[in-house]
Amino acid sequence: MKKLSNRIEAIEESATLAMAAKAREFKQKGIDVISLSLGEPDFKTPIHICDAAKKAIDDGKYFAYPPVAGYQDLREALAAKYQKENNVPYKAENIVVSNGAKQSISNAMLALLNPGDEVIVFSPYWVSYDALVRLAEATPVIVKGGIENDFKVTAAQLEKAITPKTKLMIFSSPCNPTGSVFSKKELQAIADVILKHEDLLVIADEIYEHINFTGEQVSIASFPGMFDRTITVNGFAKGYAMTGWRVGYIAAPKWIADGCNKVQGQVTSANCSIAQRAALAAVTGDIAPTNQMVGEYRKRRDVVYNLLKEIPGVKANYPEGAFYFFPDVSYYYGKSDGTRTIKNGDDFCLYMLELAHVSLVPGGAFGDETCVRLSYAASEKDLVEAMKRLKTTLATFK
Ligand code: GLU
Repeated sequence: MKKLSNRIEAIEESATLAMAAKAREFKQKGIDVISLSLGEPDFKTPIHICDAAKKAIDDGKYFAYPPVAGYQDLREALAAKYQKENNVPYKAENIVVSNGAKQSISNAMLALLNPGDEVIVFSPYWVSYDALVRLAEATPVIVKGGIENDFKVTAAQLEKAITPKTKLMIFSSPCNPTGSVFSKKELQAIADVILKHEDLLVIADEIYEHINFTGEQVSIASFPGMFDRTITVNGFAKGYAMTGWRVGYIAAPKWIADGCNKVQGQVTSANCSIAQRAALAAVTGDIAPTNQMVGEYRKRRDVVYNLLKEIPGVKANYPEGAFYFFPDVSYYYGKSDGTRTIKNGDDFCLYMLELAHVSLVPGGAFGDETCVRLSYAASEKDLVEAMKRLKTTLATFK
């Protein structure tokens, strides 16, 4: 009998990766698709990081299994970064380096959750949070932030959602998919609620910390009392254009880091040795290439924002970080071009791919059916062309 486990039956395929695969299929057929589905920098990994990887291979010293939690010098460098830049006194013992931020979150959930535990997921959320909670056989409790509050869940909403079963909450700032950034005041209010509940923990996903246009990146772990309650997640994919290198990490109280270490030791042994040497060069090296990329993202954010505003019926917030828009396109639900009717976000994305040759991700995968996600980690030329195509195609739906 071909029957997968209940655990796997309970989750969907990653919507971001599924849409990226669909766009690739169209491209293979020779169709000129502009892919705005995957959150993937269009920049190359900075040269000094690539050189460090080449040198690591030539040195001939990095062919053996690395320590499960990562090389000591990399863990020390990451702890030093958090002390200096984020004001959190992590030490090497608090760090576990993994195959991307996604595996880091998965390790933490598998290490902490039991069946029946509830996890509060701030919505809109990144697609894999909800699935990873279910993979760990716990129950996601979705708490939704509205567009009127820049999609941010408030401390009062959090407080209302907590039950005796709540073990964990998870959010990202800057947020994937909305680009919203929680201010220091908002995070302090959330921390105050968490601290009222003795065993409540938080996963703070800071993978977009570099791509923050507000000038203020605050780690919730830096507030008094929060060190012991926070699992900080970060990685190299976004800020250093290193998606394919697969290096992410957690920084957490030692007992949690030890738990993640145990999961990882059984599942993957460790993160790739050469990728770790590249990551060390990234975290200790010149930040100028990152700043340059961030400058570009900021420019593109404004270009796309202005063009989105010109499309009738589309409502967009002004994102302050990451590289996504999460516009409300529900104005088009129920509208038809004479052949097809857009019933929901899935249809919207399908028809935009088929007719405008622009790939987006349906918002339902992020917890909001009214929206779609658009990544602006693409060239300005492609973004302008994509917006033109969307506008022209949508004008045919009445
Ligand atoms: N985090 C990126 C995104 O949201 C990469 C895809 C993924 O891992 O889901 O598009």
